[in-house]
Amino acid sequence: MALPPLVEPSAPLSVEEIERYARHVLIPDVGMLGQRRLKNARVLVVGAGGLGSPALMYLAAAGVGTIGVVDDDVVELSNLQRQVVHGVTDVGRLKTESSAQRLASLNPLVDVVRHDVRIDPTNALQMIADYDLVLDGTDNFPTRYLLNDACVLLGKPHVWGSIYRFDGQTSIWWARHGPCYRCVFPEPPPAGLVPSCAEGGVLGVLCAAVGSIQAAEAVKLIVGIGDPLVGRLMVHDALRQSWDVLTVHRNPDCVVCGERPTITELVDYQDFCGMTPPTVEGMPGASDPAAARSGVPQISALGLADLLSGRGGASGVLMVDVRGSEERSIAGIPGARAIHLDEFRSGAAVSQIPSDQAVVIFCRAGVRSQEAARILIEAGHRDVRSLQGGVLAWVRDVDPTQPGY
Ligand SMILES: [Zn+2]
Repeated sequence: MALPPLVEPSAPLSVEEIERYARHVLIPDVGMLGQRRLKNARVLVVGAGGLGSPALMYLAAAGVGTIGVVDDDVVELSNLQRQVVHGVTDVGRLKTESSAQRLASLNPLVDVVRHDVRIDPTNALQMIADYDLVLDGTDNFPTRYLLNDACVLLGKPHVWGSIYRFDGQTSIWWARHGPCYRCVFPEPPPAGLVPSCAEGGVLGVLCAAVGSIQAAEAVKLIVGIGDPLVGRLMVHDALRQSWDVLTVHRNPDCVVCGERPTITELVDYQDFCGMTPPTVEGMPGASDPAAARSGVPQISALGLADLLSGRGGASGVLMVDVRGSEERSIAGIPGARAIHLDEFRSGAAVSQIPSDQAVVIFCRAGVRSQEAARILIEAGHRDVRSLQGGVLAWVRDVDPTQPGY
């Protein structure tokens, strides 16, 4: 399906611009006019992470005139395995700051607009309205549904990508010309069922494959060339080195883009996805909205260290690590017993833990442990707590000799 160009051409290019973009201008389908469309284009990249890294760099190199970058995270050492827009000296800096500097060094003719915030229902429409298209490099379901709905409401194309371990998927959701994300994925998976890359890992170079397709699709939409991935879902398996293309269709009963939509404004996407919001990093013992919502008692890393040293006055606390063996090989808390979250879900874990024993459950960041703790509490265990912030908080506050991940 060919579509007309998304963006009007800018004023004629300067001599410097023509030289910089000569290899584009030489392509008949792009030409001077296509390059002027790129210069006039405004692309919002949500997430300066694995997918955002190649997308940001190639969009800047291509001469997309205005690139917005949304992220409220800082660069961590464990990001550098795949987030190649950042470097070693950027660890600890805001990802928006780091990527803006990298893009400026690549192409100073491009205007990079930093949005140092987490995109949410209160700011999404206003932010996206200012751009021609959204390139989605997010790694979680609430933001994905948020971007979808905002793009549907504003009529913008949503250039989407998703990665996990060796698998990648990408498509353009655009209700004006084809299905939206909800047409194909009307419901999010049950919370916690699909592990994130932070929990399950991802092949770093897979980000380049998927993120560069997203950038290519953005360029094609802007210039108005080729067959955009509207109505097609590409599924990549890096182990088989295969790309499969599935045709996907609009759903006339879609709740946001269908004939009788019931979603006419942005909603609470954490709630829709059955997720608890992320715990607050760097604030051990701080009030935790996730914990308040889940009703699971929490203990901070420092509180647990006190407890284990006997200063808390308690001994005989059983620590349970609900992570997988690969995660346990990176960092952990000495003396913990490994009982995987799946054993809690199946019910097998409940009988392994005496109901009158004090238990502290932990995982990487304190979300999975809340689920396990809730299962124990509902089974009648009385003294169960979840380690707030998980092993990450333990490494940060108690044992910095271990790696974070
Ligand atoms: Zn739809």
